[in-house]
Amino acid sequence: MPSTPTTSAAPAATRTKTAEHIELVDRHSARNYAPLPVVIARGEGSWVHDVDGARYLDMLSAYSALNFGHRHPRITEVFVRQAQTLTLTSRAFHNDRFGPFCRLITETFGQDLVLPMNTGAEAVETALKTARKWGYHVKGVARDTAEIIVCGDNFHGRTISIVSFSPDSFNQEDFGPVTPGFRSVPYGDAAALAAAITDRTVAFLVEPIQGEGGINVPPPGYLARCRDICRERNVLFMADEIQTGLGRTGRRLCCDHENVIPDVLILGKALGGGMMPVSAVLARREVLGVFQPGDHGSTFGGNPLACAVATAALETLRDERLAERADRLGTAFMAQLRQIRSPHIREVRGRGLLIGVELHPEAGGGKPWCKALMKEGILCKETSEHVIRIAPPLTIEESDLDWAAERFERVLARATPTG
Ligand SMILES: *Cc1c(COP(=O)(O)O)cnc(C)c1O
Repeated sequence: MPSTPTTSAAPAATRTKTAEHIELVDRHSARNYAPLPVVIARGEGSWVHDVDGARYLDMLSAYSALNFGHRHPRITEVFVRQAQTLTLTSRAFHNDRFGPFCRLITETFGQDLVLPMNTGAEAVETALKTARKWGYHVKGVARDTAEIIVCGDNFHGRTISIVSFSPDSFNQEDFGPVTPGFRSVPYGDAAALAAAITDRTVAFLVEPIQGEGGINVPPPGYLARCRDICRERNVLFMADEIQTGLGRTGRRLCCDHENVIPDVLILGKALGGGMMPVSAVLARREVLGVFQPGDHGSTFGGNPLACAVATAALETLRDERLAERADRLGTAFMAQLRQIRSPHIREVRGRGLLIGVELHPEAGGGKPWCKALMKEGILCKETSEHVIRIAPPLTIEESDLDWAAERFERVLARATPTG
C-alpha cells in the first residue's frame, strides 16, 4: 500500500476529464446528491486516483462501507472466484454459500438467527417488520397499534417508512403521507425513553453513535441503561450498527463498548466488503423466528456472491484484528486532531476511526473546508452541516494518518477555507 503520497489535486484548469464527467452527470442524473467535484477512477487500499491523475486519501470510506479499504486483496479474490462460479439463485433454492455464512455471522455476534438483505434501509425495514410481528404474536399488543420509539437526529435510511420518523431536515413533508406508529425521544436521554414507553411499545431503534446526525456520541452508560429499560418493559432493543459496526468504533460492534447484546442487530455497509450491498438482521430465535415463508424476502438477499463476500469480510475483520487497530489508530489520530490550533474547531469527538470535527457556526459550514481539504489530497465530507466526518478505512497506514493530520492542521489553521 502506498504511504508517501506525492500528488494532490491539479489546478482546475487542467482537470478537463473531471469537467467532462461532471457535465454528463449534471445533464443526465437526478440531483439527489451534491458530490465534491472529484471523479474517481481507481482505488487501492486507502488511496484513490481521479480521472485526471490526481491522488487522494479516502477519509470517508463510502460512509464506512469501505472499512477494509478499496479492493482488499483477500475479499477481491473471493469476489472474483465466486463471480466465476455462482452469483445468484434466489432463495427459491438453497445455495452452498448461504449456510456457512449464516453460521459464521450468528456465531460471531452471539445471535441465533440471521435474515440477509441488501441495503441498509432494507435491513432497517426488516427490523421494523420483525418488531411489529413480534409485538402482535409474542408480546400480545393489539393488532395495528404497535409503536416503535426512535431518536431525534436519527439516520436509518431513505424509504418512505424510514423518512416518516427521520428528522425534519429530510423534507418529509414532500413525501407524505407518513407511515404512522413511530414516536421520537431525544438521543442520549435514557429517562426520556423510559417515559415514552407504553403497553403498545414493541421496540426502541437506536444508533450506538449517530453517524449522519453529526458523530453524536451518547453519554457513557446510555446504551446499557436503555437495554435495561427495554428488558424491564418487554421492549426490543434494536441497534442500527450499519455505520458503527464491524470494527469502525474500535470494537466489533459499538454496543460492545458497554457489553450490550442487542435484541435485534442491524448490519450493512462494510458487511459487503466494499464490493456490493449486503445487509443483515440478527436476533434470538424467539424474535426472528416470527417470520414464516412468504412474510418477507428479497430476490438478491442471501445470494451466493453476497454470502461469499460477507464471509470474507467477517474473516478479514477477525484475522486482521481491525477493531483493535481502529481503537489504537483512532485514539492516536483524535489526539492529533485535538492538538490543532484553529479558531474554527468547536469540538473533536468520536470513537475508534469514526471521528467528527465540529466547526463553529461562524466557520461557514463543513462544505468549503472539505473542498479545501480535497485540494490538499484528502477526501472527506461534512455531515449535519457543521461537522467534518473522518472515517478512513480501518486498514489505513499510520504514516498516512500522520500525513493527513498535517494537512488538517494546515487547512484548519487558515482564516478562511481558501486561504
Ligand atoms: C447508511 C445507513 C443506513 C442506510 O443504509 P443504505 O445502505 O444507504 O440503505 C441506515 N442506518 C445507518 C446508521 C446508516 O449509516
